[in-house]
Amino acid sequence: MVVTRFAPSPTGYLHIGGLRTALFSYLWARKNGGKFLLRIEDTDKARNSQEAAEAIVKAFHWLGLEHDGEITYQSQRDDIYAIYIKRLLDEGKAYRCYMSKEELDALREEQTANKERAKYDGRYREFNGTPPEGIEPVIRIKAPLSGEIVVHDGVKGDVVFKAEDILDDFVIARGDGSPTYNFVVAIDDHLMGVTEVIRGDDHLSNTPKQIVVYEALGFSVPKFYHVPMIHNHEGKKLSKRDGATDVMAYKEMGYTPQALLNFLVRLGWSNGDQEIFSMEEMMECFNPKNINRSASIYNTEKLEWLNSHYIKNTPNEELAELLEAYGLLLTSHDKKEILLDALKERAKTLKEMAQLVNEIIIAPESLDEKAVEKAFKGDAREVLENFAAKVSAADELHLPSDYHHLMEEVVKEMNIGFGKIGQPLRVALLGKMSGPGLDSVMAIIGKDETIARVKSALAQIA
Ligand code: GLU
Repeated sequence: MVVTRFAPSPTGYLHIGGLRTALFSYLWARKNGGKFLLRIEDTDKARNSQEAAEAIVKAFHWLGLEHDGEITYQSQRDDIYAIYIKRLLDEGKAYRCYMSKEELDALREEQTANKERAKYDGRYREFNGTPPEGIEPVIRIKAPLSGEIVVHDGVKGDVVFKAEDILDDFVIARGDGSPTYNFVVAIDDHLMGVTEVIRGDDHLSNTPKQIVVYEALGFSVPKFYHVPMIHNHEGKKLSKRDGATDVMAYKEMGYTPQALLNFLVRLGWSNGDQEIFSMEEMMECFNPKNINRSASIYNTEKLEWLNSHYIKNTPNEELAELLEAYGLLLTSHDKKEILLDALKERAKTLKEMAQLVNEIIIAPESLDEKAVEKAFKGDAREVLENFAAKVSAADELHLPSDYHHLMEEVVKEMNIGFGKIGQPLRVALLGKMSGPGLDSVMAIIGKDETIARVKSALAQIA
């Protein structure tokens, strides 16, 4: 069975890079009928891991990604890690090192002065004398001193690390007994049954160390996929300014879950030249083997384009529900269909759509002066008066086309161009020159409100 996991450190929120590897891991597990597990890497106990886990689960929930089983918290597993530390000590695969901080610093300084790589020199590797007093020993694992460690990476191919260049007998438990990062990751991935690790390639340099732990304990090494970073268009690592913010900020900005997931799946992965993927298609097509080898570029326009696509293609019923998060209660609005149809082609985000809806259903507080100047020329007043009279006299006004006919009648009777009624009417109804089709606007706000807005505009324009 394929078991993947997402293993965030509790920074307090889920960011876009993390979400992408989580998505890849999720898709691969689901595609294979496997499991997608969540582990909070909270060995740094100062941070609030509960809150972090909740933030992640909340973001997953918004996006429709659910993890399987209980969440694993590293901070609660010290007893488990202690068992494996003891086992390695008992088997002579790890040892206590009594070097003091001063000694370690001195060694580093000397190595740096000699232009050597700073590394532990193994002085306690075979030690069986009397330990020095007053030192809480750290525990070091016996790493291979020579030879190669090969990471068989599903994205990068075989990545060969020379033991002497990168390894030393690294610490697996500190003086206070607390285990270290690379040690616990290897133990947890094994105990959680993780078969495939998909993570950012900023972790590639940790992998040989984790392999040392796997091998020392006789665990089988999972398959690794190290995913290249997301860059901004200057080719630099994505920063907060570029969009590496809290995933929930994308909700606030008005992006739909589908658009965000679709955007992310294409950052660093492709399936021919397909751009639009439903969740089902993603699951069907995704294979970590096809993750690109080079960094991907974050492109806001593409995200907006996808978002417009999904807004356009979301059924109105569902759209109305999504808009509730932006303070719009439209589900039982009688003109919901006309309203959403008039706007779904125009809005790039749900937030913008909510704004556009409000601009229609709430009467303008004031009329834009420039727009008034431009639109209210010549016989604009008479045109609007005629139109208002026709609206008052009409019995059945429901559809946009009903209003359109009345506008046409005025145009014909007064022998004017359509712009002569369109422009002043638009300013009267919406307070400005832009916005969706007027016939839709009037069908949405209804007969009485149409007349009221026209009259109010005429009263304001002396
Ligand atoms: N906790 C690490 C991070 O948040 C991930 C480690 C891993 O996936 O192995 O970057």
